[in-house]
Amino acid sequence: VKIGTPKEILEGEARVAMTPDSAKMLQKLGYDCAIESGAGAAAGFSDEAYAEAGVEVIAKAADLWKTVDVVAKVRPPTEDEVKLLTADKLLISFFYPAANEALMKQAADLGASVIAMDMVPRISRAQKMDALSSMANIAGYRAVIEAGNNFGRFFTGQVTAAGKVPPAKVLVVGAGVAGLAAIGTSTSLGAITLAFDVRPEVAEQVESMGAEFVYLDFEEEQQDGAATGGYASVSSPEFREAQLKKFRELAPEVDIVITTALIPNREAPELWTEDMVKAMKPGSVIVDLAAEKGGNCKMTVMDEKIVTENGVTIIGYTDFPSRMATQSSTLYATNIRHMMTDLTPEKDGQVNHNMEDDVIRGATITHEKAVTFPPPPPKVQ
Ligand code: NAD
Repeated sequence: VKIGTPKEILEGEARVAMTPDSAKMLQKLGYDCAIESGAGAAAGFSDEAYAEAGVEVIAKAADLWKTVDVVAKVRPPTEDEVKLLTADKLLISFFYPAANEALMKQAADLGASVIAMDMVPRISRAQKMDALSSMANIAGYRAVIEAGNNFGRFFTGQVTAAGKVPPAKVLVVGAGVAGLAAIGTSTSLGAITLAFDVRPEVAEQVESMGAEFVYLDFEEEQQDGAATGGYASVSSPEFREAQLKKFRELAPEVDIVITTALIPNREAPELWTEDMVKAMKPGSVIVDLAAEKGGNCKMTVMDEKIVTENGVTIIGYTDFPSRMATQSSTLYATNIRHMMTDLTPEKDGQVNHNMEDDVIRGATITHEKAVTFPPPPPKVQ
């Protein structure tokens, strides 16, 4: 059985789903590997490096799709790519099935199986395949680096011969996977770091990373994380008011705000309002990692960097992982390789698409000519 990776089609997408190292591991599972010529170039992996790792380099995408049994890629397939699927082929990629129902149906009708990397259940056993987390980690890190690149001062405080420099003050809103990565990056650069999340259980994690958790003047609103699989739900109006009041106090003090707050299947909550932006010092920077879902700040322009009248830079890029393509490709290719390990219990180069396995079942959105999304809830946590 042969696994192949085409070059990503979406303009500006620099990631690749197979690296020379991941290909070596896939070969150990008994698979042959193929790559489209140039697929790894933007992530720093040359055709020669793949060839040296025993990967067949194929010149044309159509030929690659034709000859392989398993296609591993990053972005959801385009309409043209789905047409290249045939019965008995397996596609593994991000898919966002709820937003791409027609493509999913088409893949099912063609008889192909599809594993959506964004549907891997977030249970302990599946962490090694959790591409949403590996990419969110990179986005959180890169958000801080991007903020620093647009900020005119040091992160850390310094006493120098030329004068005393105060440390930067960074506020991270939302302490999920991306937020925690941003907090870790910010504290390691020496900034005073504050963080807030509606889930009170993250306070301890925030504090253990050397940041300060922002508490509200409000009787704790216990968000029942267990009911939502660890995700946040919509806050009550009273809680939201208390949160905005606190943020209004902080706005003139903070130099950098990184917002990461998301609620599953909804627009991002508006948390950093226009009056807060206006209250910030000139030279301050906001990085809105929720830009793709409408932004935590409504002034954010998706995929752009703007500077407000009062000199605040607002960054709404949605391609942070792609901006660190070598790192993100390495982690994503490893997530894929672990998925293939689970699909190959005998290490015999044969896919065993075991729908009794919670992780495989959860991520499979089409199989045996049927749409299998949404999956039943996982049995184990
Ligand atoms: P996410 O991207 O959906 O949301 C980001 C953060 O925004 C969350 O922490 C959320 O609580 C927060 N948020 C929502 N509304 C907010 C508001 N009004 N103000 C401030 N913050 C707000 O979440 P995520 O990063 O994907 O992860 C969420 C949860 O899933 C966490 O509990 C995480 O530990 C858990 N998780 C578990 C696994 C696993 O076990 N394999 C893997 C990844 C994540």
